[in-house]
Amino acid sequence: MFKKEVELLLSPEVAFDEFARYEAILKHAGLRAGEADFVHLKKRSIDARGRQAQVRLRADVYTNTPPRDLFGPWFVYPNVKSTTPKVLIVGAGPAGLFAALRCLELGLKPIVLERGRDVRTRRRDLAAINKEQLVNPDSNYCFGEGGAGTYSDGKLYTRATKRGDVGRVLRRLVQHGATPDILVDAHPHIGTNKLPAVVQALREAIIEAGGEVRFATRVTDLLLDRNRLRGVVTAAGETLEAQATILATGHSARDIYELLHQRGVLIEAKPFAMGVRVEHPQALIDQAQYRRTDRGLLPAASYSLVHQTEVKGEQRGVFSFCMCPGGFIVPAATAQGEVVVNGMSPSRRDSRFANSGIVAAMELADLDLRQHGPLAGLRFQQALEQRACAAAGNTQQAPAQLLGDFLKRKTSASLLETSYQPGLVSVRMDDVLGPNLAERLRQGFQDFGRKIPGYATNAAQIVGVESRTSAPIRIPRDPATLQHPEVAGLFPCGEGAGYAGGIVSAAMDGERCAEAVFAILS
Ligand code: FAD
Repeated sequence: MFKKEVELLLSPEVAFDEFARYEAILKHAGLRAGEADFVHLKKRSIDARGRQAQVRLRADVYTNTPPRDLFGPWFVYPNVKSTTPKVLIVGAGPAGLFAALRCLELGLKPIVLERGRDVRTRRRDLAAINKEQLVNPDSNYCFGEGGAGTYSDGKLYTRATKRGDVGRVLRRLVQHGATPDILVDAHPHIGTNKLPAVVQALREAIIEAGGEVRFATRVTDLLLDRNRLRGVVTAAGETLEAQATILATGHSARDIYELLHQRGVLIEAKPFAMGVRVEHPQALIDQAQYRRTDRGLLPAASYSLVHQTEVKGEQRGVFSFCMCPGGFIVPAATAQGEVVVNGMSPSRRDSRFANSGIVAAMELADLDLRQHGPLAGLRFQQALEQRACAAAGNTQQAPAQLLGDFLKRKTSASLLETSYQPGLVSVRMDDVLGPNLAERLRQGFQDFGRKIPGYATNAAQIVGVESRTSAPIRIPRDPATLQHPEVAGLFPCGEGAGYAGGIVSAAMDGERCAEAVFAILS
């Protein structure tokens, strides 16, 4: 079978037109139309370094029938029986769902317990936050089926490529309805309009194979038998027992951190990051990145920025986080009395706004460990979120300031149009952030303004607070068995335990924990 690999740069107009692209690839391979049987696109990325942004493609050209499974084998979940060993999985985020699917592949029966509601019902709770300023503490942008990643941008790239099989996670998502483009794009994403159907398909696969998924089931206590976890207790008072419990409750499950601490289960404070979300007109970012006013067929442009700051002799990184081109800022609080912002985008990334978290690293030295012990980071986050809420009038309206005004320490007389549905209130963000964090962010923004023309001006506004970037706490685990070092049967998992930061890395960690459970039970 003849196969030739080609790599080429094309204009967006050719690259995004299926026929024109096919012809260009054949020409590059030295073939004429009719001389190839199949073109398999393997990689696609935007190269915006030159005068004109171009699309870089890598493809295999076959002059014979291509192999059947170009992207690797699909997944089969054998049906579990009533005698199959059970595994409790707390949390139906990417970590919990992928742990459940991997359990099924390994012949274990997953029972997934999720405090929130199914994706469809959850939508109503999101509408209540946006329109009525009401936060349901069990069903919101962080809690509910699919976890924090369901109503998001669905970015699927990770730097944690050594921690698992990224391709396997992506192929699983495609098998359950995600666009196959995610297997090709250098920076794949699904989009908030497409994610719920994928999440629902993952759940259906679990149930079809004999696993269980229970919604509105909040875990409130642990069945601890000296140094062994025997199971969990739910808010309804139900007791569930199993030899292994995968705890994948995410970084917003503060009650779980408090519970572990109260029950004497070792947890540790860890570094994290905090800051604000910045919103620009997407056209400004497109113009700066692509150097053309009309981006045409090119996707909404994004950016990734980092700067080392120094305040009072302490160096801290300030960086962009979870950039959402063509997206929306969303209210991601998990309780009344706090304001938290995050970002999401639809699959087409076609809103008029570009938003990104701009956050500063928080080290242990920035926290009051003496007073709050391992919960010090959580208390810091809480205080900032409550201050943000109070500053903007104790609703889900968020405090905001024009970016140019923030740099000049000037109150904004008015704010810009925004994608943030509950609305913005003009405040001096220094009052919300405190002097150290505000100064670090200011230094970061000043540097970013030098890198992207127009970035650090009053064409943009900052919205607070971006406080849930990563877990402020680690639930330790033995690197070999992935069990808690002091509590057998407890497998801390995913972002909440401090082993992931994003959808793909959380999913990979879920798979690893399922494998670790299998190793212990078999
Ligand atoms: P989570 O997704 O947080 O899931 C934990 C689950 O546990 C939740 O469903 C929660 O309801 C449940 N739970 C909590 N406590 C209990 C309890 N006591 N009992 C039962 N269930 C409980 N990452 C990306 O990679 N790309 C993105 O584009 C992206 N965008 C994001 C946008 C938004 C708005 C948000 C909030 C996050 C975004 N993230 C994104 C981050 C990403 O969603 C998380 O990194 C990821 O979801 C973590 O997965 P997890 O399974 O570890 O935890």
